Amino acid sequence: MPWTFIIRPREMRKFRRCRREWDLGSQVRQRYAQKRPSMEWAFDKAIRDALAVYYFPAMDDWNRAIVRPLTLKGFDRSMRESRANHEKWTPLTPEEEKSFEHNLLVGQAMLTNYFVWAAALDDFDSIFADHDIWAPMPDPASPIHDLGTLDGRPMRYMGRMDQLIADPDDELWVVEHRVVRGDWTDSDELIEDEVLRSHCWHTQIAYPQMLIAGTIINELRVDGQLDAPPVSEFVERDQRTMIGSRHVNTRRSPLTMEPAATPATRSAATAQDYVTLQQDNGLFRRTVIRRNQDTLKETGVRVAEDAMEIRNPDLTVEPTFGDHCAQCEFKAPCDAMEAGGDWQAILAENFFQRADDAEDESLRHSDHRVGQRAGLGGMYRVINLGRR
Ligand code: SF4
Repeated sequence: MPWTFIIRPREMRKFRRCRREWDLGSQVRQRYAQKRPSMEWAFDKAIRDALAVYYFPAMDDWNRAIVRPLTLKGFDRSMRESRANHEKWTPLTPEEEKSFEHNLLVGQAMLTNYFVWAAALDDFDSIFADHDIWAPMPDPASPIHDLGTLDGRPMRYMGRMDQLIADPDDELWVVEHRVVRGDWTDSDELIEDEVLRSHCWHTQIAYPQMLIAGTIINELRVDGQLDAPPVSEFVERDQRTMIGSRHVNTRRSPLTMEPAATPATRSAATAQDYVTLQQDNGLFRRTVIRRNQDTLKETGVRVAEDAMEIRNPDLTVEPTFGDHCAQCEFKAPCDAMEAGGDWQAILAENFFQRADDAEDESLRHSDHRVGQRAGLGGMYRVINLGRR
């Protein structure tokens, strides 16, 4: 048993939606994962992995002509890793093979189109890319104490942040790269996204010197990428010449003569979360949402309250039926349970149970990170979990 009880934001989303779904898949409960995740899942993960290369902080000042081919290679590698994991259980069907090849083409086109679009907009410093947020959770009743389990183990929040950037005003923003199919995500849904809010809140807990101004959702649309005109040139807003310093942030100096509108005062003055900028070209959309510190804190308290429920071993896990069932990966065993059928046979055929100290591969890892997690949470293995 890991010595740290880990609360994961994607599991919290399920906990609030349907406790049976959460119970079957959660790493702190039954730990079932699909043997054969969908081709869409592998594609989305590969795009996020590729953008983690594109925005890798240590290469932030590198000429983009060097970084672009590395990014495409990162996409290709991730797709092939997911395929290999899939084929450990079963070979691809002819239909899946076709879908895999098609996705390779779409992904290469998407990233190439993105390079052009982003070059004209990007003017920030990349602070983190594909980063674990690892933070204690203050007890809402006594915030100077952290939450622990009823048997005395520490509880920690662990989420995956696609990126943290510092803009030219030296404000910090948590970024999510999101692959979309069909329409853009509704702006209200982006504003109310609890995972993004909790990422902001727990980043501030993990790094008390940081004040997060808000979130940026970078949507990449699948439709239309192959029909875009061929790329002829890249116009860079912020040229990376690899000669001298790219940015000098005077706001970071205590001697700065900047007026009162510092990032801290601006965030404090924000009365609510709101969209401050939205840019799109039909294929990509970037939505900048300034976040209010009170709403972030409320989210942090909600996560802590849920964590206190989750740590109770006698928690009941009743199903909640609704529209969300259509997307639920456990729909077949759940339907069988309701009909009095052999739901365990369905689980055994289509799912496997992860080890209790396993971590999912959607959190992209390096040897360094696996070691770091082992130190933090008693985890040391990374296996194919099969979904985000
Ligand atoms: S199908 Fe619906 S009720 Fe059943 S586990 Fe999934 S979300 Fe819950």
